Amino acid sequence: MNISFEFFPPKTDEQKATLEAALPKLKALQPEYVSVTFGAGGSTLSYTPETVRRLRDEHGFDAAPHLSCMGGTRDEIRKLLDEYKTMGCKRIVALRGDLPSGMASYGDFRYASELVEFIRKERDGSFHIEVACYPEMHPQAGDAQSDLKNFITKVKAGANGAITQYFFNPDAYFRFVDDARKAGVEVPITPGIMPITQYSQLRRFSDMCGAEIPRWIGKRLEAFRDDADSIREFGADVVAELCRKLIDGGAPGIHFYTLNRSKATLAICARLGLS
Ligand code: FAD
Repeated sequence: MNISFEFFPPKTDEQKATLEAALPKLKALQPEYVSVTFGAGGSTLSYTPETVRRLRDEHGFDAAPHLSCMGGTRDEIRKLLDEYKTMGCKRIVALRGDLPSGMASYGDFRYASELVEFIRKERDGSFHIEVACYPEMHPQAGDAQSDLKNFITKVKAGANGAITQYFFNPDAYFRFVDDARKAGVEVPITPGIMPITQYSQLRRFSDMCGAEIPRWIGKRLEAFRDDADSIREFGADVVAELCRKLIDGGAPGIHFYTLNRSKATLAICARLGLS
């Protein structure tokens, strides 16, 4: 089974040390590739390429950049594409991103589908393009049907695969994949999986991105309060079971949102027999 890991580009020395410590342990799991997020509006304009370069050159990962177009210009995107091509990157995760607070202008692109179209037009087949999708619906979408329609447009613009927002309900994924297949989408749709390590942080992320924490999971996590070990154990059990169901149900792989740490992801992989 293919697994991949997502990192964010560290900015401080402490963040760099955290990521460096996680890398050898995660590398032992032989991921197909790793990806590095990009702050919309250019907030990680230098950090993302720098991190991708380090992961490729110093750690030997097939590292892929995320590219979010919100607030960006065609020229900026062109320069980044050139830089990534020179580094030897073959894969890009293409996104819209979210408008950072205080930023008023969308830039040259309104939606991720326009970015995908642009990359295909400018660089043709140079990159394998992954896009995002939302089994529990994107939080700004009016309804599930229009969100699916917009996803299909993005795939038709030239995406080779999709990675989902995280979710804890496997039925949401299976239904989304079924609907996409019925609508003629053939590209692999890889579940994005968030390990559970901390309840308050998970709640905050989930409120922002529209991922539902099932009541029974939330209640258990709440009851553990500050007992980090119990949260980790319970979280690893729940998420490993989710991954098992997804794999058994035909998911093409698993993309882990590692948050630059190894412990929780390793615990899930160990339960899946991957270590
Ligand atoms: P889009 O596909 O453009 O969709 C955004 C919204 O617009 C949706 O509601 C969609 O239904 C709607 N829409 C799309 N096209 C149209 C249209 N033609 N007309 C009307 N409505 C339309 N964010 C970052 O800033 N950096 C990252 O590195 C990053 N990595 C991510 C990785 C993954 C795997 C995922 C799932 C998300 C990631 N995000 C990242 C978050 C993402 O940028 C946000 O979820 C963002 O709000 C939407 O991005 P998108 O690419 O899905 O946008």
